[in-house]
Amino acid sequence: MHASTAAPLAYQVNLSDHALGEAQRNALLAGELGFGKRFTDHMVAIQWDKDRGWHDAQVHAYGPLSLDPAAAVLHYGQEIFEGIKAYRHADGSIWTFRPEANGARLQRSAARLALPQLPVDEFVESLRQLVAVDHAWVPSAPESSLYFRPFMIASEAFLGVRAAQVATYYVIASPAGAYFAKGVAPVSIWLSEDYARAAKGGTGAAKCGGNYAASLLPQQEAQAQGCSQVLFLDPVEGKYLEELGGMNVFLVYRDGRLVTPELSGSILEGITRSSILQLARDRGMTVEERRVSIDEWKAGVASGEIAEVFACGTAAVVTPIGELKGKDFAVGDIHAPAGEVTMALRRELTDIQHGRAPDRHGWMARLR
Ligand SMILES: *Cc1c(COP(=O)(O)O)cnc(C)c1O
Repeated sequence: MHASTAAPLAYQVNLSDHALGEAQRNALLAGELGFGKRFTDHMVAIQWDKDRGWHDAQVHAYGPLSLDPAAAVLHYGQEIFEGIKAYRHADGSIWTFRPEANGARLQRSAARLALPQLPVDEFVESLRQLVAVDHAWVPSAPESSLYFRPFMIASEAFLGVRAAQVATYYVIASPAGAYFAKGVAPVSIWLSEDYARAAKGGTGAAKCGGNYAASLLPQQEAQAQGCSQVLFLDPVEGKYLEELGGMNVFLVYRDGRLVTPELSGSILEGITRSSILQLARDRGMTVEERRVSIDEWKAGVASGEIAEVFACGTAAVVTPIGELKGKDFAVGDIHAPAGEVTMALRRELTDIQHGRAPDRHGWMARLR
């Protein structure tokens, strides 16, 4: 579809002249990292234009972008992103998880947002290039990781409404501590009855900033209700579960079934979701990808037929859901301990990612 370079891109590496010293970096990595607040010394940038395709791949100092105020991304929101982690294993080696899946998803997001498709090999290579210079930033504390944020913007300075003919792909990286520093704790979620995050035929299945922009108001509403996340329903009937706006959702039935909403066209296809489905099948669980109504959730939790509910995504891996609240109801018990199946699946997945369990599906890719 778009011009793509047959030969691998050659990187120009310009090391930062203000990289953090070793002692400072180690002190920072040993402290409370939180999520997405501190960034490594370097970043990747690759240019694309309609005539030349992908070119000018660089690793350079992390820092502000210089962007024309007419850049299309600032006006029409033509932007996509990814989220993927690097894990330091006990022997010091650095690995990532299913990067080809993220690369392929970035391509699907690009297609929907009329942005150019970065070859999957180049996506994986961009992570490798950043780790080559910033490997000391991959933390080694239990459950910690380096979170990569690859993203692409329409950087053409043009206010006409059409797909941009100039785009830039970047990768930045942020060291991340254990998401649940004080132990995995169930969260309370808010059912958004007034807002949808995606539309039929819209961009819900693409990982794009615009979907998040649409979710921030309901997210504020959730917080005002004492909930940490929002659950969105399907945009057509307002009846079926979609997802949490940044995480996919699963129901564990007392009879051993694991149920998750089928990919409806407006749900984001999570790589954690697909990995959890595989691990559940491996455990002999009956896995169902189908439509699940909000009434099924409410009735199932009330009757005890649904024993556990959880959400999953790269950042928090697996988050138990203790309670679901809406305008005139609440089901579940936020004070109940995290479910057994939820925690077993969480442990299994993180053991593979951190190199504590055999990688029987070939999901891990070595970065260094
Ligand atoms: C990224 C994302 C997810 C989770 O996907 P993973 O690949 O598991 O991290 C779920 N929903 C939305 C809307 C997302 O953007």
